[in-house]
Amino acid sequence: MKKYDSIYRATLAKWGEEAQYDQAVEECAELIAALKHFKRDKVGCEQVIDELADVALMVGQLSFMFGEERVQRAIDNKLAKLQKLLESF
Ligand SMILES: [Mg+2]
Repeated sequence: MKKYDSIYRATLAKWGEEAQYDQAVEECAELIAALKHFKRDKVGCEQVIDELADVALMVGQLSFMFGEERVQRAIDNKLAKLQKLLESF
């Protein structure tokens, strides 16, 4: 079992699947707002880090739900494409 699987499982059991999608969207929106505010010096890097942590947790939650191995394969494929692109310059 992976590090956070038990908490992801408990979260899913308590609030359900739809709530996880909604929470992920909300946390992404908060990160977007924090980054925009950071660029304009309205918030410090701690605010961005806090929102990054929220999004990282929701990425973990959704990866747990959709299958961590499948997500990891998609990441590996995208990194391989990026590596090829970097080598083409
Ligand atoms: Mg947040």
